[in-house]
Amino acid sequence: MSQLTYYAGIDIGASNIKYGLVDSTGKVIYRDLKPSQVAKGAMPLLHMVTNIAENLLLRAAEDELQIKWLGVGTPGVVDIKTGTVIGISPNIPDWVGTELGPHLKEHLNLPVYVDNDANSMALGELRFGAGRRFNNILCVTVGTGIGGAVIINKELWRGSNFTAGELGHIVIDYNGKKCDCGNSGCLEKYCTGPVMIKLAIEKLKNGMTETMNEILSGDIENLNIKKLFTGAKKGDELALSIIEQSAKILGAGLSGIVNLLNPEAIIFGGGVIDGGAGYIEIVGAEIRRRSFPTATENLRIVKAELGNNAGFIGAGLLGEYKL
Ligand SMILES: [Zn+2]
Repeated sequence: MSQLTYYAGIDIGASNIKYGLVDSTGKVIYRDLKPSQVAKGAMPLLHMVTNIAENLLLRAAEDELQIKWLGVGTPGVVDIKTGTVIGISPNIPDWVGTELGPHLKEHLNLPVYVDNDANSMALGELRFGAGRRFNNILCVTVGTGIGGAVIINKELWRGSNFTAGELGHIVIDYNGKKCDCGNSGCLEKYCTGPVMIKLAIEKLKNGMTETMNEILSGDIENLNIKKLFTGAKKGDELALSIIEQSAKILGAGLSGIVNLLNPEAIIFGGGVIDGGAGYIEIVGAEIRRRSFPTATENLRIVKAELGNNAGFIGAGLLGEYKL
């Protein structure tokens, strides 16, 4: 008979909570998502996550699946020994200090493992996605923010206090824009989805292009990251220039990391990457232009393969990687 084991995984994002039931071959048995409404603050979010977890377990019980544990990926720095959010999570007010793991354990009577969202995504890609054929990997997500995870010899490098991989907060401008982390000039202030949209709106207000006007049905408020990429694919110069600039800044920021770690592969995921339009090719070219030639000689630039599922699939694996 089947030797499969089953896990529940939840991926808390700034826009959506994605979740599902996964088996030990990485097969998704059930999945869904809900808007995370993070602006409401920590308590409502905690209740929502608890409710989602209970529903996942109910669903599993109905399908007669024995769930071994629940894994949760969340924005912020997570002490994975205690399951507590211990450090910066600028997109979720008051989230730092939330005892996510202990709270869920108490309510669910099940082992619960919690880690950072980018780490969870990286584990998913490492086991079942684009990371399968590599040992040393840098994972980069570009969406509302910039997330990162470092895998060395097929293991997550969490750092001495769980904070490793915070790529979005590499300083690229000494006197640069103020960041929510308290620092200034962080990479994240220059090339996320919202930054691209803001820049595009400024430029379009100074001169709407024919292509973008058509895509936006004449209303600039309709602009989102998907529509910006649609414009680029239709050859809109303004959209293309914003995408190119964002990709080049990201590439410049990552070139230092490539010199530091000399990874075999960089796996890119997230809403901005999904836009296509040559974005990761430009990022890759910029990394190659700026890094040591020997650091990029064997470097592979690849897209995440598990898409939106990577985070909760990886979260489901957290029990195997516990300290
Ligand atoms: Zn920062």
